[in-house]
Amino acid sequence: MKKTYSPPVIERNVIGMMNKHGHGTSSPVCDVIDGVRVADLLKEHGSPLFIYSERALREKYRAAHRAFSKRYASVQFAWSYKTNYLKAVCQVFHQEGAIAEVVSDFEYDKARNLGVPGHQIIYNGPYKTRASLERAVAEGAKIQIDNLDELLLLEDVARQAGKKPDVGIRVFADCGIQPVWSKFGFQYENYDAYRAIKRIHAGGKLNLTGLHMHVGTFILAPAAYGVAAAKLMVLAEVARNEFGFTVEYIDLGGGFASSNTLHNQYLPGEQSAPSFDAYAEALVDGIHSQLPAGRVPPKLYLETGRALVDDAGYLATTVRAVKRTATGQPAIVVDAGVNLLYTANWYKFNIRPAQPTMSAPTPTVIYGCLCMNIDVLRDQAALPSLGVGDAIVFHPVGAYNQTQSMQFITYRPRAVMIGMNGKVEVIREREDLRYVEEMERLPAHLQPEAPDAGNKLVKLRA
Ligand SMILES: *Cc1c(COP(=O)(O)O)cnc(C)c1O
Repeated sequence: MKKTYSPPVIERNVIGMMNKHGHGTSSPVCDVIDGVRVADLLKEHGSPLFIYSERALREKYRAAHRAFSKRYASVQFAWSYKTNYLKAVCQVFHQEGAIAEVVSDFEYDKARNLGVPGHQIIYNGPYKTRASLERAVAEGAKIQIDNLDELLLLEDVARQAGKKPDVGIRVFADCGIQPVWSKFGFQYENYDAYRAIKRIHAGGKLNLTGLHMHVGTFILAPAAYGVAAAKLMVLAEVARNEFGFTVEYIDLGGGFASSNTLHNQYLPGEQSAPSFDAYAEALVDGIHSQLPAGRVPPKLYLETGRALVDDAGYLATTVRAVKRTATGQPAIVVDAGVNLLYTANWYKFNIRPAQPTMSAPTPTVIYGCLCMNIDVLRDQAALPSLGVGDAIVFHPVGAYNQTQSMQFITYRPRAVMIGMNGKVEVIREREDLRYVEEMERLPAHLQPEAPDAGNKLVKLRA
């Protein structure tokens, strides 16, 4: 039989999606998370929905801890609250052995409320209230001094409390990452950090036991941690030899990259993010490069945030309208806005439909549901053709979205956690009108029933 002729066609090869040229790096469909169907989750808990995997949280934590503990005897992780301070998320990390790292009085309260004792809280940040410093001193928290004004304030707090608290100072240095973050701490290169230590010694009110450096965030060059650790070790020797302080710990902050993909990155994040082993290798080498023979190595604190929690978080949304842009490109409106996905500014998330489909992926605009032109979740996502009611899943979104999401135009949705046993638990309720208006106060003369309020206005207009 004669074969029928079919004309050649040119199909756009969309990177990251399955096509005849091979597979992308991630499965193009996300219909099941930890054995639970996304469709069932949305039916039960509403759309949109934040979904966290307890398994992913624990596995990441253990992988990170293993990478360091197999190279270094004394390692302690401190969970960076600001990265995600849902109680359930914090508690998983605390159960795994992490202490808390907080950067405000609010976060300090949150950690204490979860039962974390003061001495297991690392207190960072460029502004700490006097009241919170008093509490931190009384409870033995690990305060990391950010600046000279705070140093003087803390000396006064210590004097009043009649205590000589152990403290750390935050240091910043050129570790090969540009731009160098100079907002936080005392500079290493210009001797500000040295002078801060000298001042602590001269003041006689505080005892320096720690040195802290958080190089930056999403650091793709592990070598930076080697440089940072080496510089802190040099400073520790100076503190010992010149001022008699024993630096018991160095804290290298957070900043390890998650598997997310930056907008300007070509390779998917799963391929370009350094491994925990690579970070650990560089960092531990940096410590040893400056450790004098016979000296007890300091304890190592790490405040890893996004690299531990990003992968564990998903946002499931539902298509509510299908459109075309002015140039004819397919577009969809989903029921979540950028107010829930702050990190859409930096990342190309994996965006996958939650139901299998045979249609070929096409670059599609994803509009959020806010009545604002800037509310675009992605200007080009490779998606099959979708209809109203279909669900799509954004991943990884576990870092910084929950904490930076704001109540704006819409209620913020529920968050659930899929437990180790597959049981789904609500870990944050969907907001409602009562929650949003709880802190508002309406003055008496503006009450709807006030005799001379609204009616007057109507009269004036008439
Ligand atoms: C934000 C922050 C962290 C966590 O940073 P990641 O980049 O999310 O790992 C750790 N330490 C300090 C002081 C921070 O400000």
